[in-house]
Amino acid sequence: MIFPETDIPITEIPLENSDVRLFIKREDLIHPEISGNKYWKLFYNINRYMAQKPANPRLITFGGAFSNHIAAVGALGNSENIPTTGIIRGDELADKWQDNPTLSFAAAKGMTFRFVSRQQYRNKPELTEMLLQEFPEAVVIPEGGTNELAVNGVQHMLNEQTKSFDYLCCAVGTGGTVAGISKFATANQKILGFKTVNDNSLEESVLSFSGKRNFTLISGINDAYGKITDENIRFINVFAEKYGIQLDPVYTGKLMQHIFDLIEAGYFPKGSKILAFHTGGMQGIEGANLLLSRKGRPLIKTY
Ligand SMILES: *Cc1c(COP(=O)(O)O)cnc(C)c1O
Repeated sequence: MIFPETDIPITEIPLENSDVRLFIKREDLIHPEISGNKYWKLFYNINRYMAQKPANPRLITFGGAFSNHIAAVGALGNSENIPTTGIIRGDELADKWQDNPTLSFAAAKGMTFRFVSRQQYRNKPELTEMLLQEFPEAVVIPEGGTNELAVNGVQHMLNEQTKSFDYLCCAVGTGGTVAGISKFATANQKILGFKTVNDNSLEESVLSFSGKRNFTLISGINDAYGKITDENIRFINVFAEKYGIQLDPVYTGKLMQHIFDLIEAGYFPKGSKILAFHTGGMQGIEGANLLLSRKGRPLIKTY
């Protein structure tokens, strides 16, 4: 994977009558298909693996039906010419994955799938062993891509400019991104991770990767993973209209909505400079809208 030349902009989100300032770093612009944090989380993993020059390289990874990580690994395999296999949660998808935009995208990029039951999916060591017997030279990337190399890749989301902020905020799935931000932040910065999943083991896992206690994980407004309320949709649509920035329903929409709520509640001291990382996830909108439209719910507008 190449080191992207893209100069990622930091733009201010203008707030009315507020004594704090909010900015967003557009990590979503880093790559059209390997969005945001996923690029950096894969960066050292892939480069280290390919440096070993495997004769029959293959990337194997795990994910749900709408996973940004599955889409990213599919696109990456295509652009780097490495075959990919996705272990997908839900054996009911085996004969209808074509209806799913994320899986169709990954398949179009050359990914092959193994659909497993939710019970099998939980037993990742066993699945991993089975696949490594079949593909002995493959590398297995964990769900969501989080491991030590992934956390180290996140350092590239930080730069000279990000040092001037008091708060660094990001959405939390498996916790690798917030761990990297925590690990590589400067001494006076406070890190806020906004959970999108109700998982009490996240604090410990983030701490083990980061080694620092400069972070706070904040429970979501609705932290049932992937649950989208009408209020979330309304927020995303108003945000896009007002600021011209598209958010996704699983991570960045909830992140920005929650930051707005905290600002409103006076959580941040006067004069604070807050930076939110837009970690991407745009590919998930189509799938979310498909589910919403089946239920006759309001849709996420896309621009
Ligand atoms: C995967 C993802 C996250 C969460 O990253 P973790 O390192 O798993 O916590 C946040 N935002 C977007 C858009 C993602 O795709």
